[in-house]
Amino acid sequence: MSPQPTVGFIGLGIMGRPMALNVLAAGFPLTVYDLVATPVAELVAAGAASAPSPAALAAAVDVVLLCLPDSPDVTAAMTGPDGVLAGTRPGQIIVDMSSISPVTARTLADAASAQGATLLDAPVSGGQVGAAQATLSIMVGGDPAALEQVRPVLAAMGKTILHIGASGAGQVAKACNQVVIAVTIEAVAEALVLAAKAGVDPAKVRAALLGGYAYSRVLEGHGERFLARDFTPGFRTRLQYKDLNVALETGRVYGAPLPATALVQQLYGALMARGQADIDHSALVTVLEELAGATVA
Ligand code: NAD
Repeated sequence: MSPQPTVGFIGLGIMGRPMALNVLAAGFPLTVYDLVATPVAELVAAGAASAPSPAALAAAVDVVLLCLPDSPDVTAAMTGPDGVLAGTRPGQIIVDMSSISPVTARTLADAASAQGATLLDAPVSGGQVGAAQATLSIMVGGDPAALEQVRPVLAAMGKTILHIGASGAGQVAKACNQVVIAVTIEAVAEALVLAAKAGVDPAKVRAALLGGYAYSRVLEGHGERFLARDFTPGFRTRLQYKDLNVALETGRVYGAPLPATALVQQLYGALMARGQADIDHSALVTVLEELAGATVA
């Protein structure tokens, strides 16, 4: 691969749009594709080319990146009639940065391999801010030699780039990440609702906890959102619900009980049932507030 490979980016949403802008800013010639026209036009105005389909994009570039919502979206973009695999060639490296099922990741890696291409699963953590600041943590599963070839491209988007293991291992790491984040959001929400119910100022409780052992990025960032009632996404509830389903499915496959994750998944199910799938996942606090009959702000 040339020192400055050409890059294609499929999926320009909350995460993909700033990630693609960072790839462009790092000097890689970029081609983009999304089902929605607006972010494509924005990337083209910033200097990218656009492709009419994932197949055309794959045919035009050295490295293909994807950042799509869920397993069916990645499967469609990869294996559909105009999908990446219809335009790939032997030796091409495809990096799926979406959070999807490890089982789907392995199936798609096998399909790429059958055509002589290599698919890495490389989901990310760090959120919208990490995507904008190019400080994402990137968890990679698949061929380590392929990772070394695309490392400079990934370094345009993230600071921590770790090879976790074989194909699917990156997605297992991401499922573990989501268990910690979701259960912590629930714990912080539960604690601040307790404070409110006990007649103590939740903002003061949060400030005290931030200075002690209970400190976490969730207490800081999501706790602030609870108090400000700012539930603009961020990270959509529907995606958190999807990630917890991936974690539970992985737990079932490998025989790992995930009792707290199962409970929190049900609470996210309540937000989904309310029709709030597209607000930020920090809105979980409103479910706890409803149960307790008290609000934190
Ligand atoms: P999003 O819904 O904001 O964006 C998804 C984009 O993909 C949209 O622009 C949509 O039009 C496009 N898309 C969907 N199907 C497509 C297809 N078949 N072909 C081309 N484009 C298609 O989602 P997001 O928040 O950017 O999340 C993307 C992925 O990153 C998800 O797997 C999510 O779980 C993961 N993730 C998100 C965050 C976050 O904080 N938002 C953090 C870490 C990981």
